[in-house]
Amino acid sequence: MALCYCKKCGRIILFLFDKDEKICDCCKYNVEPIPKQFLSGEFSINAELKEKFVSEYIKTSPEFDQYLFDHREEILTKQSAEFDAKMAHGKAVLEEQNRVTKCPSCGSSNISRIGVINRVVSTHFLGLASSKIGKTHKCNNCGTTW
Ligand SMILES: [Zn+2]
Ligand SMILES: [Zn+2]
Repeated sequence: MALCYCKKCGRIILFLFDKDEKICDCCKYNVEPIPKQFLSGEFSINAELKEKFVSEYIKTSPEFDQYLFDHREEILTKQSAEFDAKMAHGKAVLEEQNRVTKCPSCGSSNISRIGVINRVVSTHFLGLASSKIGKTHKCNNCGTTW
């Protein structure tokens, strides 16, 4: 584990695994480990030295970005809201997919997709094409195609 800081936005992040990519989840900048003298215990910054650390190490670095520093929480909140929205969207898409692959007749989800090749073969050899053209799903439970 390593307690790291972002020179750009001032975020302090605890990385649980050494193999984790050490980038800031706020501004995506590479983070660096906090020097040991500022730590209390192994994984938390010494509360009394935190101010000093921020002003000496973060605010003086050439990468420091005052805007990011001031708006860090806001940015993170916005990011997680966007993430939630994406997740919700993904879930809606999945539900939609599940919905259309249920049989409209009996509601079974035991569905086969009728492929293009399958339809062409039907046309030539079985003469069943007329009823199958334009249909892409077949219910394995009741035989309905749609
Ligand atoms: Zn950052
Ligand atoms: Zn069915």
